Amino acid sequence: MIRSVRGVHDILPTEAAKWQRVERAARGVFEAYGYAEIRLPLFERTELFARGIGEATDIVQKEMYTFDDRSGESLTLRPEATAGLLRAYIEHGLHVQPKPVKLYTLGPMFRYERPQAGRYRQFHQLDIEALGDDHAALDAEVITMLVELFRRLGLADRLEVEVNSLGDEASACRPRYRAELVAYLRTRADRLCEECRERTEKNPLRVLDCKTPGCRPVLDGAPVLGDFLCADCTTHFAKTREYLDASSVRHVVSPRLVRGLDYYVRTTFELTTTELGAQNAVAGGGRYDGLIKLLGGPPDPGIGFAVGVERVVQLLPDAGSPAGAERRTPRVFLIPLGEPALGRMLATATGLRARGLVVEVGYGGRKLGRELERAGRLGASHAVIVGEAELERGEAIVKEMASGAQRVVKLGELAEQLLALGGRA
Ligand SMILES: [Zn+2]
Ligand SMILES: [Zn+2]
Repeated sequence: MIRSVRGVHDILPTEAAKWQRVERAARGVFEAYGYAEIRLPLFERTELFARGIGEATDIVQKEMYTFDDRSGESLTLRPEATAGLLRAYIEHGLHVQPKPVKLYTLGPMFRYERPQAGRYRQFHQLDIEALGDDHAALDAEVITMLVELFRRLGLADRLEVEVNSLGDEASACRPRYRAELVAYLRTRADRLCEECRERTEKNPLRVLDCKTPGCRPVLDGAPVLGDFLCADCTTHFAKTREYLDASSVRHVVSPRLVRGLDYYVRTTFELTTTELGAQNAVAGGGRYDGLIKLLGGPPDPGIGFAVGVERVVQLLPDAGSPAGAERRTPRVFLIPLGEPALGRMLATATGLRARGLVVEVGYGGRKLGRELERAGRLGASHAVIVGEAELERGEAIVKEMASGAQRVVKLGELAEQLLALGGRA
């Protein structure tokens, strides 16, 4: 037997209903806020991610599925959606549309990480990006929309909204902070783990993410970005929070929330839970005002977020799964007895489905008792039995599964009768 690859998982029919629920809710919420769907390729040129995520990030250095195709070009399975979406935005000139241009996408992402509960090498994200506007009201709207999605899924009360401002590069508030942080970390390098020491030189903000307990005392005493924000960044953050309050979005400021990507500026945010162990972030995002230009596009600002679908599905309650819930519940189960009846029932089934009924046909040639048993297991509300005698008379026996009550119905009136009996899907 050939098994699936380590770190990937099948979404079985019992689980798929939850996935569909999440996706339906997401489409509903995103479209209500004016977002349009964009569907993107699963692989891109490797250099897109190197530039769009940042050479120094863990994703680019350690986690990408990169390969040469048969023509020798280096390609990478997308580890996140933003870079590909911005590439499409630039390539198709979408920036000429009224701004902000609001786009969403969903699908699998790929990262070579150590698999653990809730973390996979092929995982799924819902992703939105709002491009071309840097107003704080947009930041608040994006966070509000994210919270609204979880509210519709009945999960909002179990999540905390954490926000922070990372300052910006242009006004020098973050460069000033970075210099302070690096100086602080270098003088305490002997009390930091190897990864922290490495990150101090390559990507110092990420040091604050270290989970090694031994590093905590040093990191807890590190300078805080919030103390270094310039006047514009301070105002932008205060306004964002004010608009969140106006939208009744409860949130806390997390001074150490830095996120993993290089190009985040100003607003960053995460939705976290204590219910999933170490994988505590269910969704996260932030503003990346220089990134579109860096990828060769116009100097448009942008903000977006990604939702980890596996983690959301983990939080959703099982939708009480009666026997047979793994299949779409048929409302009607047709039982032809004998070959002539089977041909007629296949045609009848097509007609009934076109009327909106969910129909399955017992074509296994089993005995009536076995077929009725199967109809029961599948959760059918009605069984329709047609033997040779019924076929000759142009009739069918309609059996209500719950009560066992039977009645005889003209084949030509079957659809009307079943719809009247409440068998509608
Ligand atoms: Zn460390
Ligand atoms: Zn600033």
